[in-house]
Amino acid sequence: MKTAIIGGGASGFFAAINTKENFPNSEVSIFEKSSKLLSKVLVSGGGRCNVTNSENSISNFSKSYPRGENHLKKLFGRFNNQNTIEWFENRGVEIVAEEDGRMFPKSNTSQTIYDLFISESKNLGVRVNLKSSVTSLIQEGEKISVQVNGQKLLFDKVIVCTGGSPKLEGFDWLKILDHKIESPVPSLFTFNIPNEKITQLMGLSVPSALVSIEGTKLRSTGPLLITHWGFSGPAVLKLSSFGARNLSDKNYNFRMGISWCGENNFEKVKEEIQSIINTNQKKKLFKIRPYNFPKRLWSYLLERSDLSAEKPYSELGTKQLNKLVQIICNDSYVVSGKTTYKEEFVTCGGINLESINFKTMESKHIKNLYFAGEILDIDGITGGFNFQSAWTTAFIASKLN
Ligand SMILES: Cc1cc2nc3c(=O)[nH]c(=O)nc-3n(C[C@H](O)[C@H](O)[C@H](O)COP(=O)(O)OP(=O)(O)OC[C@H]3O[C@@H](n4cnc5c(N)ncnc54)[C@H](O)[C@@H]3O)c2cc1C
Repeated sequence: MKTAIIGGGASGFFAAINTKENFPNSEVSIFEKSSKLLSKVLVSGGGRCNVTNSENSISNFSKSYPRGENHLKKLFGRFNNQNTIEWFENRGVEIVAEEDGRMFPKSNTSQTIYDLFISESKNLGVRVNLKSSVTSLIQEGEKISVQVNGQKLLFDKVIVCTGGSPKLEGFDWLKILDHKIESPVPSLFTFNIPNEKITQLMGLSVPSALVSIEGTKLRSTGPLLITHWGFSGPAVLKLSSFGARNLSDKNYNFRMGISWCGENNFEKVKEEIQSIINTNQKKKLFKIRPYNFPKRLWSYLLERSDLSAEKPYSELGTKQLNKLVQIICNDSYVVSGKTTYKEEFVTCGGINLESINFKTMESKHIKNLYFAGEILDIDGITGGFNFQSAWTTAFIASKLN
């Protein structure tokens, strides 16, 4: 049996190694269009490769995928983060968790993952073809003809692992095979808020903010980071992921809401401030910070509420109190534009999931053609979820059922 793997990235190598292990007598060839293998793996996670996440409930794990959640939930029953950890550990690479759930090779460098994939594929006899861009796939009876560098090569099985493409044209060669393509838009980015005074607080973060897109139901909670161009941090990245298509439609011009104290609503915040007033009548506003806000943020929020930091709590009138509470739990900023999050970015969109048989990852349109990785309309939030979906879909595809 001859199998072609199109794409020499994360899912391509995972598929190639597992295919060769499942079918030792088969011929497995990777075709990579560039002159480099596994380039995203090498730069991933800031050069550390965040291979998966330690979340141990499959249901919660799946919720980290704005696109693909339901299909992945079933696939994780067959290959999940625990299987990923074992897969690497069985091959001598220890995977360790950080406090926030992200998991990395113990060596703390993505080179370890790269080296493992290269040596495993070499030892198993996987053929690797660089500078080999596949330009078309044609069904020929039970076989598939792969057009590469002007040559037509016949294969029994083909696994497409070509990753995301920022442009719809990048999927043209697959459209002709009847697969519906969801137009690609970026996911995992940070928000620009030009000319806003708050950017002077760059570097400052709050551990649990609630951020939302006004006029939609999109919201997320988590750490919020103020940068010199706007807002970043897990809460914003998650919001950009769940809102990827909606925000693209808005051309990245929208109003975002921020509750600086997470899920606490107006009444709760008012109670909190009221209790400070009751017990600290004479203290000045800047002296006592609700929710343990960082000093500079508290001064900024007071100023934004038109309050002097020198004012004693006892002199806070009802109107002023309401305004302050409103700013704390219902602040609002105009976002215009986005900035790529350099640690990780992915494509929302790709092969429509209706085109795939998720028991096998085989195309419903072309027999013996399989898909894995980011080329599918599957993507997750940051934290190792994108690699996990690449490993899982590649593992299932490599069964070649
Ligand atoms: C900077 C950065 C950091 C990231 N860090 C993390 C992280 O730490 N954790 C995480 O979970 N996710 C991370 N991601 C996301 C993760 O890298 C991707 O989701 C993952 O690499 C997808 O794997 P893939 O094999 O589907 O695609 P890719 O890794 O993109 O590989 C696709 C390969 O196919 C090749 N190719 C494309 N078209 C053709 C063609 N026609 N013929 C032949 N070859 C072709 C490409 O050149 C490429 O080598 C990061 C992404 C970026 C950009």
